[in-house]
Amino acid sequence: MRKVVLLLLITLFAASWTSVYAAAKPYGQTANSAIGSSLELSKVRWANHTEAVTGAAKMRLVMDVSGPVKASGVVINTPTPRLVVTVKGTTPGKDVADLEFDGKVIEKVSFDVSGQDTKVTFDLPLTVEDGDYSVFTLPSDPKANKPFRVVVDINKPMPRPDFSFTAGLKNKVIAIDPGHGGSDPGAIGPSRYQEKTANLAVALEVKELLEKAGARVIMTRQDDRDVFGPNATDVEELKSRSSLANSRKADVFVSIHCDSFSNPAAGGTTTYYYQKSLYDSMLASAIQTNLIDAGQLQDRRTKTANFYVIKRTLMPAVLVELAFISNPKEEKLLSSPEFQDDMAQGIVRGLERFFDQASKLN
Ligand SMILES: [Zn+2]
Repeated sequence: MRKVVLLLLITLFAASWTSVYAAAKPYGQTANSAIGSSLELSKVRWANHTEAVTGAAKMRLVMDVSGPVKASGVVINTPTPRLVVTVKGTTPGKDVADLEFDGKVIEKVSFDVSGQDTKVTFDLPLTVEDGDYSVFTLPSDPKANKPFRVVVDINKPMPRPDFSFTAGLKNKVIAIDPGHGGSDPGAIGPSRYQEKTANLAVALEVKELLEKAGARVIMTRQDDRDVFGPNATDVEELKSRSSLANSRKADVFVSIHCDSFSNPAAGGTTTYYYQKSLYDSMLASAIQTNLIDAGQLQDRRTKTANFYVIKRTLMPAVLVELAFISNPKEEKLLSSPEFQDDMAQGIVRGLERFFDQASKLN
């Protein structure tokens, strides 16, 4: 229900987008009102706008204030991407409530009091660069019945449209994400072996091999811990992993997991991808082929999936399911250093194969 109302409001307000936009002119640095007499941030409106030709999307949020204010924004990337806008010398009015959006440009907007100021936090699906947002103020216009306003524009970050890969692992930036960790053990085998342990062991081995080959490795975790922090939601936890790879501009992203199923006979290796560019499936095939060579388990092939970490990363990304921890034989393999080592080598050979193939497409 709430969503319907929200969409209706967005549609209504979108109709007046051009007029809001035309009036948008920063009025610069106006002195704050006397200290102690706080202004009120009273009303919040928003509109989204998609360019017909390029498909570029942006969102504008307009906040009415009871007097002239200063406002500024800063992007914070860890543990998840956010734009934090400080509106000086104001408090949020009683009708100002947190807002939830569809996540295309903004996921959520929340209003907090921070000392003498209002802190407006925009949760974003992906990190934004400095040029992708602006925060400015507008003076009141009594003739047009317009109050003082703070305007925040955010462009939807566009994934890099094309990549240019070179052959070889040297100097590549590779993000390795050992699934789960800390308070989250992942799947647990019949002999109580935990998925997070196998994921980390293989990931650390991959790191070592890649670094020997001259690559730079970004690990989402290097020990047994939650990446976002304990008691985080699933989304916060996953987002902190994809955000790290995005903000560090990794060339590729590999998330390492183990599969699990109710039937203990199920077994094999699978590599998942989300097709953001043609490179995602290419990376998945290269890694899957080499994992099968290395581990000799049933080839469950590459598959597409909507998993958060492969969808929200800007670079080609895969999620590998090494083997089934619910299968007693494969659980034993997963806990053995030999098998962990073999699978790590499979991933590294797959990465090498990927860069080789991708370099030929340039
Ligand atoms: Zn998992």
